[in-house]
Amino acid sequence: MKIRKLLKSNHGGVLTTLILAGLIFIALTYLPAYFNNHPEIKNYIISWFDQTCVYPKTYELVSIDPRFNLSTSTLRKNLNIALTAWNKKVGTEVFSLTDTPSTKSIKLSFVFDERQSSTLTMKTIKNSIDSGKEDYTSLKTKYELAVANHRQLLSDYNQIFADYEARGKKLEADISYWNRQGGAPKDVYNNLNLEKTSLNELTQTLSEKARVINALVVEINDLASALNSLSKNLNLEVNNYNSSDLVGKEFEEGLYTLNGGKQDIKIFQYDGVIKLQNILVHEFGHALGLDHNISEQSVMYRLNTSKTQTILVSDIENLKKLCPVLDKVMAQ
Ligand SMILES: [Zn+2]
Repeated sequence: MKIRKLLKSNHGGVLTTLILAGLIFIALTYLPAYFNNHPEIKNYIISWFDQTCVYPKTYELVSIDPRFNLSTSTLRKNLNIALTAWNKKVGTEVFSLTDTPSTKSIKLSFVFDERQSSTLTMKTIKNSIDSGKEDYTSLKTKYELAVANHRQLLSDYNQIFADYEARGKKLEADISYWNRQGGAPKDVYNNLNLEKTSLNELTQTLSEKARVINALVVEINDLASALNSLSKNLNLEVNNYNSSDLVGKEFEEGLYTLNGGKQDIKIFQYDGVIKLQNILVHEFGHALGLDHNISEQSVMYRLNTSKTQTILVSDIENLKKLCPVLDKVMAQ
C-alpha cells in the first residue's frame, strides 16, 4: 500500500512538473511579446503589486490644527485648485477626496509647530512695520511742511525786520538833524511822530511773528524727535523680523511619507493661499511618485520660492517614465 501510493504520487509529481515546465516555457516565450503589444495589460498586472500608477488616488483630510486658522471649506477650495492642476495636466482624475477612512488613502494633516508659529509672529511684526512705515511717511511729510513753513515765515520776518531797522535809522537821523536845527516845523514834527508810532506798531508785529516762529521751531523739534524714535522702533522691528528663525533659512514646509504602504502628507508651514496651493501641488506630486525637478520654475522644485510655480512638461515626462500607461491616457 505504501509502495503503491508512493509510486502513484511519484507519477503525479512528474506530470505536474512537466505541465508547469510547459507553462513556464510558454510564458517565457510568448508573454514578453504579448506585453509589448499590450502595455495596458502589463501595467494592469503590475498595478496589482504596485499601487504607484493606480488612479484616482484617494486622500482624506485627517486634521487641521486650529492654530492654522484654516477652515475645512477654505482648505477644500485650495485643495481643489491645487489638485485640479494635476488632474488637468495628466488628463485623468489622479486625485479624489474621500470621507471614508481607508488604509490606502493619502492622509493629509496640518501639523502646527514653531514653523507656522514663527510665520504668524513675523506676519504681526511685518504689519507693525508696514503701519510704522505709514506713520513715518505721514510724520515726515508733516515735518517737511513745517520746515518749509518756518523758512517762509523767517524770510518774511527778516524782510520786515530789515525794513524796520532802515526806517528806525532814518527816523533817528531825521530827529538828530532837526534837533541840530533847533526843532522841526510842525508838519515835519507830526510826520516824525507818525513814523515813530508806526515803527512801534511794527515792533509788536515783529514780536508776534517771532512768537509764531519760535512755536514752530518747538513743533519742528518735536516732530524730529518723534521721527527719530519711530525710525529707531522701525529699525528694531526690522531687526526682529530679520533675526527670525525662518528668514533666509531652509526648512520643511510640508512632507510626504510612504511607510509600509501608509501614505501621509503633513503640512507644517505656509504664508498665504498661493504658497499653500504650491505646497499642496508639490506634496501631492510626491504622492504621484515624483521626485524633485531641478528647474526652479517647476512646482516640484525643492524650494517653494516666490517664482511662479507650475507643473512643467518635464514633470509630466517624469511621471510618464514612472507610469508608461499614462502615455495612452494622455494620447486620448
Ligand atoms: Zn519635496
